[in-house]
Amino acid sequence: MVDMRCPNCGTVNPGWVDACSCGHQFKEKSSQSSSPSKPVQVFAIPPQVIQTTKIVDFDMPFGSMVMFMIKWSLAAIPAFIILFLILLCVVVATGGVFGGLHAALGGINY
Ligand SMILES: [Zn+2]
Repeated sequence: MVDMRCPNCGTVNPGWVDACSCGHQFKEKSSQSSSPSKPVQVFAIPPQVIQTTKIVDFDMPFGSMVMFMIKWSLAAIPAFIILFLILLCVVVATGGVFGGLHAALGGINY
């Protein structure tokens, strides 16, 4: 918002004030901002559109990219552990199906 210089005393006021400290009223500002008949376009947009992030271009310095990939790789380790545990739970839950095969292979390896 543009600062407004008071024509009465010359004081530069911030754009959101309605009146100067000397008592001068900024009439053009009050008539411009408070118009309740104007439709607010922001609320017409669904929240999904606002929250969606669309990456058009991705420009990153090489050093930052290296650090980013290292962090990504380190973050992937616990992620794979979690996925492995989930997979393990699924295998245990369906152990009745594969249990016989697993026992047979274990017997052969002895
Ligand atoms: Zn003034």
